[in-house]
Amino acid sequence: MKMDINSIARPEIVAMKPYVSARNSAAADGILLNANEAPTTHVNDPEWQRLSLNRYPPPQPALLRSRLAEMYAVDESMVLITRGSDEGIDLLTRVFCRPGQDAMVECSPCFGMYRIAATIQGARLIDVPRQAGNGFQIDFEKLERVINEQDGVRLVFLTSPNNPTGDLVGRAQLEGVLKACEGRALVVLDEAYIEFCNADSACELVEQWTHLVVLRTLSKAWAAAGVRCGIVIADPAVIGLLQRVIAPYPLAAMAIDAALQAISGDAISRKNQLVDSIRTGRADLLRFLSGCDWIRVVTQSEANFVLLRVADADGLVDWCAERGIRIRNFTSQAQLEGCVRLTIGSADEMTALKSALQDYGERA
Ligand SMILES: *Cc1c(COP(=O)(O)O)cnc(C)c1O
Repeated sequence: MKMDINSIARPEIVAMKPYVSARNSAAADGILLNANEAPTTHVNDPEWQRLSLNRYPPPQPALLRSRLAEMYAVDESMVLITRGSDEGIDLLTRVFCRPGQDAMVECSPCFGMYRIAATIQGARLIDVPRQAGNGFQIDFEKLERVINEQDGVRLVFLTSPNNPTGDLVGRAQLEGVLKACEGRALVVLDEAYIEFCNADSACELVEQWTHLVVLRTLSKAWAAAGVRCGIVIADPAVIGLLQRVIAPYPLAAMAIDAALQAISGDAISRKNQLVDSIRTGRADLLRFLSGCDWIRVVTQSEANFVLLRVADADGLVDWCAERGIRIRNFTSQAQLEGCVRLTIGSADEMTALKSALQDYGERA
């Protein structure tokens, strides 16, 4: 369904005359006297020469953009490279939510950055809590009712697989939400962990649904969290609006270079190996956890982590910390009392974790 994206964006962003940077308005070759840069670097390091660190980087590097478009099987005009998905979430909130007026919807427990972005922007956050007693399933009936009945909903955040509960959003459920949002809101599907599961990405649906936005990242399966590279896949009209708000040079030259290395031909097979080993590690850890009678609930996960509910989350987190193992405590969050999240690490790391958990179970 084609939707008029400008009609749901903040009018001041639609009306704004965008900033035009030197690198955007002219080619980056020849004698460059248009950006007040230094003609050479001061640092005597071939890396500085290779990356031309005296120059501003390309705002949306063409080669990286085309590689990513190919990887996600979408047109280049549907790709925006951001400083991590965190920046994509922030840009969406700033473009589509008027402070004090518009709202975004999340289904908690979920990724904490949606709420942070809403708070910073002064957007209302409407929570449609998941059903903790029912495997943390989303209440889609209630979600669609909220979208239909509440004024000013502009963004609906869904996460598949979800962090920290590890579950997927089904295709039929996603299409139901897309239909409910038609003409009034964007559906943002955060697929940070999609590589770890068998489900297909929704990238292929973006062409058909103008108001669907998919977030991808190099931070998880691509093993490049330090690079800070996220990708927004959306209709060119959405990408165009986000580009009005993104910083003129959001990506450092080193990050662009590193992102290209992270998704190079060699890296693809290593990524596949990592995903295989994480999935094996996850199955193995789930088997181990099912034998621990002191654990109340183990949530099945499609991602590179597992969520547990125990009697004393603080005690377990401290116990592991004393053994140098950091696990994430969620016990203070709504519906997550007693919950901790364990990331699947290397085989050695999992051996250390299981040994700590074994000892915890047998402690006097
Ligand atoms: C880790 C994570 C991200 C990735 O964020 P980056 O800024 O790209 O590192 C996005 N969404 C969710 C749900 C995550 O857990």
